Amino acid sequence: MGVAEAAAAVVPVAADTDRTEALAAYAAETAACTRCRLAAGRTQVVFGAGDPAADLMFVGEAPGFHEDQQGVPFVGQAGKLLDRLLGGIGLSRDRVYIANVLKCRPPGNRDPQPDEIEACEAHLFRQVELVRPIVVATLGNFATKLLSGKPLGITRVHGYEQETTLGGRRVLLYPLYHPAAALYTPKMLEVLEADFRRLPDLLARELDTPSAASAQLEPADVPAYPPAALVAEPVPVQLGLF
Ligand code: URA
Repeated sequence: MGVAEAAAAVVPVAADTDRTEALAAYAAETAACTRCRLAAGRTQVVFGAGDPAADLMFVGEAPGFHEDQQGVPFVGQAGKLLDRLLGGIGLSRDRVYIANVLKCRPPGNRDPQPDEIEACEAHLFRQVELVRPIVVATLGNFATKLLSGKPLGITRVHGYEQETTLGGRRVLLYPLYHPAAALYTPKMLEVLEADFRRLPDLLARELDTPSAASAQLEPADVPAYPPAALVAEPVPVQLGLF
């Protein structure tokens, strides 16, 4: 093996080790977070779990009872469905990275409040920056609205990918229904399964390079999100997870 090949073989491993360590250090720091009122009622911070160098990252809403107890995201019924959906595309949770908009459980699993999201969002952006995923799949309304920066609800935008810059890098943002919502609504589950099946293709996409990403897009270049035809007619946007 020549010097260049040896360097190419070694560098990604070193970079992944750095990433793992940086993420672990950030998790340790976040464990003591008191940026919002949720710190008072939590059992523990649910930072995130999975492969620190994953190409695919999921962002849910907030920990529930079981997640708060175990310190791991998506371990309840919604998590079991997420595992099944991942299995359907040949993946498992240890090959993706899973996080939430909020790192602490809201009391009684109520919706995240705007000031809680604002207090917590830097943790999520740092996670994206460290993991460097290709695709960020947002699960439900809260993650989708936060990371798209747009008020469009998940009912309108699920299944429509959009290139955007997160954590200083180009990623493909891909909104999906929240598994908790799909658990009890067979039609929604069908849609979620169909949207999920597109993930392997999205992961194979070539994105703009980071330097190209920093160039301003002309309005005409901005991909329609969702296609204009879909937003022409007002569609009722559901609240909460839907
Ligand atoms: N729902 C979420 O949004 N996140 C979890 O971790 C569990 C359920």
